[in-house]
Amino acid sequence: MTRELDAFRTETRAWLATNCPPGARGPGFIPWGSQKIALEPDTALWLERMSARGWTVPSWPQEYGGAGVSREEYMVIQQEMRRIDARPALTGRGINYIGPTILEFGTPAQKARWLPSMARGEGGWCMGYSEPAAGSDLANLQMRCVDGGDLWRLNGMKTWTSDGIYGDWIFCLVRTAPDKPKHDGISLVLVKMDQPGVRVRPIRLISGNSPFAETFFEDAVAAKDDLIGPINQGWGIGKRLLQYERSVHGGVNTSGAQVEQKTQSLAEIARHYLGSAAADTRLSDLQFRNRLLTLEMNSRAYALTQQRIIAETQTSAPSLATSILKVKGAEFTQERTEVLQQAMGTQGIGWEDEGFTAAEIDANRDWLTTRAVSIYGGTSEIQKNIIAKRVIGLPD
Ligand SMILES: Cc1cc2nc3c(=O)[nH]c(=O)nc-3n(C[C@H](O)[C@H](O)[C@H](O)COP(=O)(O)OP(=O)(O)OC[C@H]3O[C@@H](n4cnc5c(N)ncnc54)[C@H](O)[C@@H]3O)c2cc1C
Repeated sequence: MTRELDAFRTETRAWLATNCPPGARGPGFIPWGSQKIALEPDTALWLERMSARGWTVPSWPQEYGGAGVSREEYMVIQQEMRRIDARPALTGRGINYIGPTILEFGTPAQKARWLPSMARGEGGWCMGYSEPAAGSDLANLQMRCVDGGDLWRLNGMKTWTSDGIYGDWIFCLVRTAPDKPKHDGISLVLVKMDQPGVRVRPIRLISGNSPFAETFFEDAVAAKDDLIGPINQGWGIGKRLLQYERSVHGGVNTSGAQVEQKTQSLAEIARHYLGSAAADTRLSDLQFRNRLLTLEMNSRAYALTQQRIIAETQTSAPSLATSILKVKGAEFTQERTEVLQQAMGTQGIGWEDEGFTAAEIDANRDWLTTRAVSIYGGTSEIQKNIIAKRVIGLPD
């Protein structure tokens, strides 16, 4: 096996060297399938080549657009891509969230219809879970889906729809049986966003950006075949999709794009602020040094745990351990930006004025952005509830 894996690595390395264009290396935009976002030529070429090889979703079966590689081969592809700083060719809620869910629960016809085009990056997916009165208490969702004969009719709203204005499709948890107990009347349905019954209203944030939207459904329609899994059993399927989402946030996704968490080593952090005048005195501050070292050790232990979980998980489906990784990953990500802020002192509070470098302004925005990691995909408090009940087995 080792010899086979070595041969696979050699072949992978050679293929990547020839086929990964220069414009697909280093930081940059990673496509997520949206047909409303034009791609740079090298990014488009990279997506085309990778999907032709089945490497946008290496572990999916070949018939559905993957390459059917083993877990070990998957890791080799990731390592070799990282070695040459190649960006993932495709990411997003298509190949990472709804794709694996269809692979697990879809009918053969649904798999054939959705998965190969998803793997080619043809369609950007949004997530329609949250509603104004259904966040942590997701089962309280009210959006209605009614049997309209040859199609489904949808009415209601979703909120916090990330990338809503660029979405082509949205997967929604909807209420199909309002008279049943709330967990028993929910279904998962796929809805085309470009139709008269769907209206997207961007939510403008204090930063001026609008990464989210409210999405309104006013007599929108969905095809009869586009309900995933049995009707009224969407709660279990929808929770499974959340595990796929959390496996991405926890860095243990083994389906599509494994976007590596941005980990700054102690050396990098030190280098970063060594440019600023007070760096030496701060480094000699025992408390600060301890904080840096603790973070560094925790980050390394976390990365090793991720690798162990990937290696130990027998199938490509995530386990409840993803909740643990999501909580800890969020803590370390937030701590990293806080340590950096502390290191930068007043230089770390720049927004856009003169007197701050681009890196300092980025660090401040990063600090703000990372407040969200303990909220999206289910808050840290909710993950702790799941760990208490489902992992440790504590009573309700
Ligand atoms: C960046 C970002 C992107 C998002 N993208 C999407 C998206 O694309 N699609 C989508 O559907 N949603 C999206 N969301 C919404 C996200 O899923 C919700 O914000 C999240 O589930 C929390 O719900 P809420 O905001 O209604 O907070 P609430 O549920 O009102 O929670 C408020 C506070 O109370 C705590 N709390 C609530 N219930 C309990 C409990 N039982 N035990 C302990 N503490 C509790 C929570 O932890 C939280 O601190 C996104 C959110 C963010 C921040």
